[in-house]
Amino acid sequence: MKVLKVLLFASVVLISGCSKGSDFEQLFLNKTMRFDYFHTGTASEEHFSFDQIVNDGIWAGSTTQLIDNLKLGKYYFEIIDKASSKVIYSRGYASIYGEWETTREAKENWGVYHESVRFPWPKNDAVLVIKKRNDEYGFSEVWRKEIALEHWRTNQADPTTSLKTKDLYVSGDPKNKVDIVVLSEGYTANEMEKFHKDAQAFADALLSTAPFADRKDDINIRLVEVPSPQSGLAHPHQDIYRRSALSVSYGAFDSERYALGFDNKTIRNAAANVPYEYTAIIMNDSIYGGGGIYNLYITAAADNAFDKYLYVHEFGHHFADLADEYYTSSTAYEMGSEIKEPWELNVTTHTEKDKIKWGDLIADDMPLPTPWGKEAFDEHSIETQKERTKLRAAKTPENVMNKFFLDQKAWEEDYLSKIEYAGKTGLYEGAQYHQHGIYRSAPNCIMFTRADHFCPACQRAINLVIDQYVK
Ligand SMILES: [Zn+2]
Repeated sequence: MKVLKVLLFASVVLISGCSKGSDFEQLFLNKTMRFDYFHTGTASEEHFSFDQIVNDGIWAGSTTQLIDNLKLGKYYFEIIDKASSKVIYSRGYASIYGEWETTREAKENWGVYHESVRFPWPKNDAVLVIKKRNDEYGFSEVWRKEIALEHWRTNQADPTTSLKTKDLYVSGDPKNKVDIVVLSEGYTANEMEKFHKDAQAFADALLSTAPFADRKDDINIRLVEVPSPQSGLAHPHQDIYRRSALSVSYGAFDSERYALGFDNKTIRNAAANVPYEYTAIIMNDSIYGGGGIYNLYITAAADNAFDKYLYVHEFGHHFADLADEYYTSSTAYEMGSEIKEPWELNVTTHTEKDKIKWGDLIADDMPLPTPWGKEAFDEHSIETQKERTKLRAAKTPENVMNKFFLDQKAWEEDYLSKIEYAGKTGLYEGAQYHQHGIYRSAPNCIMFTRADHFCPACQRAINLVIDQYVK
């Protein structure tokens, strides 16, 4: 009887797997199309122009989860089959341009950024549609371009693999797994042994943090060695200049600790040496800093007291579009005064249980909003922030800064562990750069302080994204 049941189950799986698989096979080749374009504009004007199409190697994404129903990110792209007018693939994403247009600089200057969207290679005529977040919580079309399968700027050649690669953690077929590529930046050819150690530390940090820890078997992590001519990265705010392989630099958008690389093609070409969906750029630098953009990449410095925190926090932005839950730090963006319900799954403006994104996880007797000793916490945060600004301005050595941050972390952890609802899911005011009007799901989270764990709302968001690659 037992055997029969197993057989029956197996045949059902086989049939459904077959029909879904054939959908994919009818529509797509088993390779990745990388559609490159230029994204140009100011704070009030936005333009797109086609650059090229390249073959980015085998398709590493799911062959069944072709439509992205999570709809996270500021942008969203769709691939439409021309004959049937049906959407055959879609994904949400964010971009450096999306941040650029919110900076002060964009009010008076034009900016141009190179971007890519990646999807399985369509067999038949198709159209790319790019949509942008609108005021009604949805997306509006901002660009439409036919995908030219036969064109002088469509390069069908397989990518050439010239860089050294290594499997750090491989659990199975890329098509059923989340595939993460780790790229070296600011490591010379002689420093690759160190890069392997740092990349392993990144993998270990991620795979030991829930929910990634619980779903290790859904994840592959591979590294690509990208040697730089010099060791370390550029720090324009400290008059340190370097030419590193991926051109990642601190000081992005005039923010001293924000590290980004604008050379999208070089980064993408390096990543394509292995099957990938998500990219971690590990920086060979001791100065605290990094960044994380949804569906683009993270950058994170390898040699400082908070490297593991940086890896996981930035990956939260990159992987599941998690919002920052802190609100006392200054940021590079211009915040609007009106607060709209954010699309990110770990923050909300709603205070009624049935409207809160994680409302089903909140106990019925939990007060909403949940009291958490916010005033005393804020007072301490503001004081710490002032002190931090002073220390930074005085060019305080990094080891003294690290001690300062470790003390801050210890105070916060102690404080948050002693509040009435410590460790409970609720509605805690203060998140996403707003002291009031936006709420988070738990007193503490790695998106809030330099804690070592994700809150329940963040964990659920990450699980939903993992599901897009394994089912
Ligand atoms: Zn969180």
